Amino acid sequence: MYHAADGSTETSYEILHELGHSMAFLGDEYLDPERESPSRKLDFMFVPNCERNPVCENNICSCPKWRNVAGAGCYKGCTYEEWYRDSDYDLMRDIYRLPGPVDTLQFRSAMNRYVDYVQEPISIEINKKLQIL
Ligand SMILES: [Zn+2]
Repeated sequence: MYHAADGSTETSYEILHELGHSMAFLGDEYLDPERESPSRKLDFMFVPNCERNPVCENNICSCPKWRNVAGAGCYKGCTYEEWYRDSDYDLMRDIYRLPGPVDTLQFRSAMNRYVDYVQEPISIEINKKLQIL
């Protein structure tokens, strides 16, 4: 995060972008030339919103990774020049945009994981304690 948490609208958008990284495992969809240097290039990492193996024919590419995701496209450049992204401009490329189709699915499953994790163990714990008493 590059700005202070000052409660501004920009900060709110930025928090959503950063949550994309931390809870939905999304990669940056903008290009950062500094990350291209061999010592900083982490191109082995898995990021669900970046496709490394697009299928291209006559300069038109499709991204097999999210071929079944409605509304998802295949645009060149996702953290790295050679990776592809699901949306032309979305939250992970520009903080003032909405999450793209793949981003939305990832946020949804992250929230479902959180709900499962938080609610179920608590109810099990309570039941166990009641049985012990
Ligand atoms: Zn980012």
